[in-house]
Amino acid sequence: MTDQVTQMKVPTFDSLDPRTGDVLASYPIADDAAVQAAVDRARAASRWWDIQGFSGRKNWLLEFKNAIAKDAQSLAAVISAESGKPDEDAILEVMMAVEHIDWAARNAEKTLEQRKVSSGLISANQKAYVGYRPFGVVGVIGPWNYPLYTPMGSIAYSLAAGNAVVFKPSELTPGVGVWLAKKWESLAPAQLVFQTVTGDGSTGAALCTAGVDKIAFTGSTATAKKVMATCAQSLTPLVAECGGKDAMLVDVDADLDAAVEFAAFGAMGNAGQTCAGVERIYVAAPVYEDFVDKLAAAVSALKPGGTGSSSYGPMTLGKQSDIVRGQIEDALAKGARAVVGGLESLHGPYIDPVILTDVPENSTAITEETFGPTVVVNKVRDLDEGIERANASVYGLGASVFTKDTEAGRRAAERLDCGVVTVNSVLGFAGIPALPFGGTGDSGFGRIHGADGLREFSTVKSLAVQQFAIPLKLLTLNRKARDMKISKLMLKLRHGRG
Ligand code: NDP
Repeated sequence: MTDQVTQMKVPTFDSLDPRTGDVLASYPIADDAAVQAAVDRARAASRWWDIQGFSGRKNWLLEFKNAIAKDAQSLAAVISAESGKPDEDAILEVMMAVEHIDWAARNAEKTLEQRKVSSGLISANQKAYVGYRPFGVVGVIGPWNYPLYTPMGSIAYSLAAGNAVVFKPSELTPGVGVWLAKKWESLAPAQLVFQTVTGDGSTGAALCTAGVDKIAFTGSTATAKKVMATCAQSLTPLVAECGGKDAMLVDVDADLDAAVEFAAFGAMGNAGQTCAGVERIYVAAPVYEDFVDKLAAAVSALKPGGTGSSSYGPMTLGKQSDIVRGQIEDALAKGARAVVGGLESLHGPYIDPVILTDVPENSTAITEETFGPTVVVNKVRDLDEGIERANASVYGLGASVFTKDTEAGRRAAERLDCGVVTVNSVLGFAGIPALPFGGTGDSGFGRIHGADGLREFSTVKSLAVQQFAIPLKLLTLNRKARDMKISKLMLKLRHGRG
């Protein structure tokens, strides 16, 4: 009876299907005490997780992966219902997430195991080692646009590195987090190394102050700043994966048909709600008109909707449509042209594809993240000007270069100020778990995925073991004049010649 009364008092929120507005389920808003309890459970479980060692954790994670893959359709159904994305996109998301669990599980030991390093000439009497230890408990705060794939980049790598995880999914996609936590619990009910706490921003804030050892945040730059300010109070380290304004550069020799296909996918896929999606396209002047015509034909055929055969789904966050509308208005007012769609493309939760051309570089459609199925296509003199414009952004998440000369593409990549570049594809990195992912500037800092992603969730432990005492005694308060004389001579001979 008492339990029932207590349960009735817990405030809840509804998860909605953005296609229909229907309530899918209600979830508790975890308050400070509930979050603290989850972190305390995680702390206890983290000790068990630590003693499993790399091989034990690998086995558990591969079992977790198997269980998710076997039940992929059920997870995809939750992703699809909460985000509105078509089922095929949701299945792809599960596939990618599972690849990351697999990679993290199989590569943690060789990346993080203790290894010997050179101790150098003046410390030849010591053996030196570098190892990586888990932090303990990592709090993962996730977004709604890829509610599984994106946070899994922190969850899988944290777990593989030996941490317990408490996950706070976006309030728009809580069911995905709850599904995952239940799956883990079905495998290891007594060892909750992975838990989900549902709620709103206040739950996320509570996670930052609940004594976790690191926060992995994915979301907007504005929220990242708040999270960083909260984490600063306890000096809790943070990895921040934020938004982007990714540019695609199309050089004069590019395969235009391939570039157009990738442009349509990168800009319109997932209704443009992709942090590293294509938002700005800079095309070399000689092929500009041709590219715009081809892209216009390709995207005009796309139809957003709520069925499995729809090209993409609705705006998951309703108010996102206002941002898209504002950016189109601003661009048109500044002299841009809408060659496909326009303000009339917005209807209900859906937005038909929009292509804007000749967009002034000070328009919000160029300077701010859009997160909608709209794309800017501007003409540039050549690849050099494209790189210059691509770099003139506060964001630095990703970029792509299209050219038949892949060496030129690689050279361009070196000059692009961002965390990841693809040549002749967009988002091609996402299926390569070994590639670290993260941005610069307003796109955040730190890396998920790959060996760097495993190290991101580890603390470095250095070890120096003295094997024998040497006659030259410097680490003493009773240094001998003779030893200092030899030291000065060594300094000069080793570093001060010439
Ligand atoms: P938000 O910044 O709105 O929210 C992100 C998460 O932070 C949510 O779980 C949110 O909870 C939580 N949160 C909100 N306020 C606080 C707070 N004060 N303290 C702690 N946590 C808080 O982002 P969105 O969910 O809208 O996601 C879209 C953004 O994410 C875009 O900018 C996109 O580019 C970026 N993104 C970046 C990726 C990357 O890897 N670089 C990948 C995917 C998305 P709640 O939702 O309940 O408010």
